[in-house]
Amino acid sequence: MSDLPKIPVREIPKPEPRKRPTPRQIVEILLRQDGRCTCGVKIGGATPYQVDHIQPLELLGGQTTGNLQCLCEPCHKAKTATDISAIAKGRRLRGETCTRSTPIRSRGFDKTLRKRMNGTVERRTP
Ligand SMILES: [Zn+2]
Repeated sequence: MSDLPKIPVREIPKPEPRKRPTPRQIVEILLRQDGRCTCGVKIGGATPYQVDHIQPLELLGGQTTGNLQCLCEPCHKAKTATDISAIAKGRRLRGETCTRSTPIRSRGFDKTLRKRMNGTVERRTP
């Protein structure tokens, strides 16, 4: 048994903590997008924008300017809706959704009882 090679347990990588993009990053993104959302609406000024992670943070997307984009609110809502199931799967795989520290274990069949082949259950005699 102990001669068997040890199989390494695969570490599930964790996402980096969420950071607020710097004003310089936002300017860079808005310039790259020509001040428009992906839907074509002009953002900034009167139309508020939301900074979005193109590859979601929870799916190990980075927080570099290249992975960020500015979207109008409806577009950001729609994109988040499509990302949400993948994000939830990532959380499940990392075990972040279960608050129970020990798994639920069955107590099994009462060892003081005996089940006969005909289906009847009787108490074991010591
Ligand atoms: Zn939009």
